[in-house]
Amino acid sequence: MCLIGVAPTSTMPADVRLGRRNDYLDSLEAAGVRVRVLDPDRDDPEEVCRAVDGLLLPGGHDVDPAIYGEPPHATYEAAPVGRDAFELALARLAVHADVPLLAICRGLQVLNVALGGSLVQDIPSHVASTVSHGGPVTPARPKDHLAHTIVLSPTSRLAEIVRADGGICEVNSRHHQAIQAIGGGLLVSAVAPDGVVEAVEVPGLRFCLGVQWHPENFSRTRRFQTLFDAFATAARP
Ligand code: MN
Repeated sequence: MCLIGVAPTSTMPADVRLGRRNDYLDSLEAAGVRVRVLDPDRDDPEEVCRAVDGLLLPGGHDVDPAIYGEPPHATYEAAPVGRDAFELALARLAVHADVPLLAICRGLQVLNVALGGSLVQDIPSHVASTVSHGGPVTPARPKDHLAHTIVLSPTSRLAEIVRADGGICEVNSRHHQAIQAIGGGLLVSAVAPDGVVEAVEVPGLRFCLGVQWHPENFSRTRRFQTLFDAFATAARP
């Protein structure tokens, strides 16, 4: 059985300790893989890449804009100390050593910055758009609320994996940042109607895919389970 190393979200270690459901871990386990929740304070990224069959970078806070050479926007919310460096190292190693990587939300942003790209620091401040990318989770707007459409690039790996009617599918959305300058070697595999990048991939690798939405939140319908299944298939040694 294959082992996936997962960079932790803020709640993940406690979820594991207390036996609580966690959408990321649930989606991976539904794909038939074992999970190792990584410890950014103790784990060495190179050791991790040798020990696991695949890596998942999850959602979270903003990447420090100093890394791509910009002063912080007023809305900047820093990740816990050490997370940026840990996850950037994992993303670079995954690409260079061809370790299958699924990057979600912040994970996609980490992947982009790791490959030399930059970010739109606050979509509402910088993108003229009526598309609803952000907003808190409320009873009226649950975490699997379908917020906007995306258009898939027909030649992308993503388009082979995700079911999309006429190349268009609906996604949830909880991000205030997005890709600005695209990182080296990345291909845009989906965009929102306002041009915001919603997915990227590195062609030619076993599996290196980033999505800006949250496919893990669809535990009831398994709407995007094929993404986790394809990742697991690619990671199987
Ligand atoms: Mn979005």
